[in-house]
Amino acid sequence: MSTFIPQQRTLMGPGPSDVSARVLNALARPTLGHLDPQFIELMDQTGDLLRYAFNTQNSLTMSISAPGSAGMEACIVNLIEPGDTVVVCINGVFGMRMKENVTRCGGTAIVIESEWGEQTSPEELENVLQANDNVKAVAFVHAETSTGVRNDAQRLCAIAKQHGCLTIVDAVTSLGGIELNIDEWQIDACYSGSQKCLSCVPGLSPVTFSETALEVIRNRQHPVQSWFLDLNLILGYWGAGTKRAYHHTAPVNSIYALHESLLMLQEEGLENAFTRHKKVHELLREGLESIGLTFAVDEAYRLPQLNVILIPEGADDATVRGRLLNEFGLEIGAGLGKFAGKAWRIGLMGSACTPRNVHHCVESLRHVLA
Ligand SMILES: *Cc1c(COP(=O)(O)O)cnc(C)c1O
Repeated sequence: MSTFIPQQRTLMGPGPSDVSARVLNALARPTLGHLDPQFIELMDQTGDLLRYAFNTQNSLTMSISAPGSAGMEACIVNLIEPGDTVVVCINGVFGMRMKENVTRCGGTAIVIESEWGEQTSPEELENVLQANDNVKAVAFVHAETSTGVRNDAQRLCAIAKQHGCLTIVDAVTSLGGIELNIDEWQIDACYSGSQKCLSCVPGLSPVTFSETALEVIRNRQHPVQSWFLDLNLILGYWGAGTKRAYHHTAPVNSIYALHESLLMLQEEGLENAFTRHKKVHELLREGLESIGLTFAVDEAYRLPQLNVILIPEGADDATVRGRLLNEFGLEIGAGLGKFAGKAWRIGLMGSACTPRNVHHCVESLRHVLA
């Protein structure tokens, strides 16, 4: 046994993305107690930075001490009770997981399923909500990392709200990469992840809840089935203005890292970060097209931060990805679900979203495919 020293990689898959030296340095600072006044101050600042990133005034904006999947579970388990009906829009793997969470809470899911690589149709949501008047919430994924599709969050939320429904949105891959306006779009519950466009270490899930959502949580009939994710309990630790009490030991150093990555986002500015993702995506598109590769998703709703490319005729999926990793230190993602073996997923997330990485990726692929 000896010290583990990983080889340097370029992470251009579906996450985690490259973590900058600045964030890694933050992680290495001395650990504080999780109730140390200095750390409480850092938690408050992290909340403020998250409000900036989410574009919200929601007081309940914090990070769940677990990965994006736990953020998903936190949103659904707190809002949904046995007997509730939820419309779940599915156009990839992560929508399927939302449905699974709803049914495990004793809820009934009405599913709107779209083809892989297609958007959820707002018209279809409108029709389903007109045909069902007992729907409590509408849930969907903003940036479907399994297909590279951007759903029209603003329109889907507007329709849900016209029908008096709560809105639950997966923003794991969208936060920091494309426009996301929690308050303006009337999103009631939203979760993200630290390791995608925030380029922080994996293992944290930023979440935000509207006043409407909080009202629903306070007036539940049944206790939240998960003790760890019960927001009524978590708030005793994270909630501003409360006397902080022990709930669980926060991942102190990871919060340093999250704070630093959010600070970098704020320094760059949200608009600039979105523009960078868009411009660098255009460079990647040109490069990939120059070597004959094509996208699986229509240009109108392609995600700049997650590019799904059809595997060309004659190329072996695992061999190509293996060679990229071993010869060029480059990680790209395999296809998931219906895209397994048919597509690659090339991420341009956060710190990994640079012209330099685009060049490295296109040239490595050109070499391996030749
Ligand atoms: C990555 C991802 C998740 C899950 O996040 P984990 O941190 O892996 O638990 C959920 N939804 C989407 C859209 C994702 O891309």
